[in-house]
Amino acid sequence: MGVSRSTIRGGMASVSEFLLGKKMIVAKSQKDMEKMRAVGELIAEVRETLRAMVTPGISTLELNAAAEKMMRDAGAVPTFIGYAPRGMVPFPFAICASVNEQVVHGFSTEKPLEEGDIISMDMACTLNGFVGDTATTVPVGTVDDDVLQLIRVTEECLGFAIEQCRPNRRLGDIGWAVQEHAEKHGYGIVRDYTGHGIGRRMHEAPQIPNYGRPGTKERIRAGYCFAIEPMLNMGTAETKTLADKWTVVTLDGKPSAHAEHTVAVTAEGPEILTLTKEQKAKINISNAKTAAT
Ligand code: MG
Repeated sequence: MGVSRSTIRGGMASVSEFLLGKKMIVAKSQKDMEKMRAVGELIAEVRETLRAMVTPGISTLELNAAAEKMMRDAGAVPTFIGYAPRGMVPFPFAICASVNEQVVHGFSTEKPLEEGDIISMDMACTLNGFVGDTATTVPVGTVDDDVLQLIRVTEECLGFAIEQCRPNRRLGDIGWAVQEHAEKHGYGIVRDYTGHGIGRRMHEAPQIPNYGRPGTKERIRAGYCFAIEPMLNMGTAETKTLADKWTVVTLDGKPSAHAEHTVAVTAEGPEILTLTKEQKAKINISNAKTAAT
């Protein structure tokens, strides 16, 4: 779930908003980092399970129910349920399910997904006091090539941004990595919602916009954990919020894609926390092959 820039500017109602406002970035201890790894792996398992369930005919309510069950069965709490930043009605679902022109924070419904749709699923859970946050956009059946490209470029932007999560880089480097790649493809970069620090709370300092200037903003240090989440629109970057007070849609009705990982900054570089055991094993094998050649 992204941070609304207007929410942050608007007030200091909660501790997390207070921390965001004061820009107190919390570096995690090794012990905390182990908990971040555990919750990251769990929410990644949920994400991959949902990805595999996406097919024409399934409803977002079914996806939401599956996610909530997996979280609770693992002893975790769905972080989104009841989440209510200042002035907001509490979010009612375990996942944000945003279809086609919906950018983020979409409500789950009984309406079946249709061939050619795309579905962005954003989810977070809290385990042993720490939060993991991840999102992915999945094609439903066969989808137009230009829409597939939007999804692919959004994922590439996430990858380039993660590459910047190293000690002594700056937050502006992360934003620039997304901006440069997205603009090369002519996509609208959503500016109303940003990535964020993450840990004991879902939204901690700093805000991490998907645009920026290289070499600017706070210095990145080992122990920081970030939720990086580019949101790219096929057309205009402008968005509006629907009457349910949560669902964000593109102003021009064109599709939007979202990809998010929770990432830890280590002395050696970025560590993606929201990978499944299987995904981590694959990376280890390919790293070993690279080392051997
Ligand atoms: Mg998030």
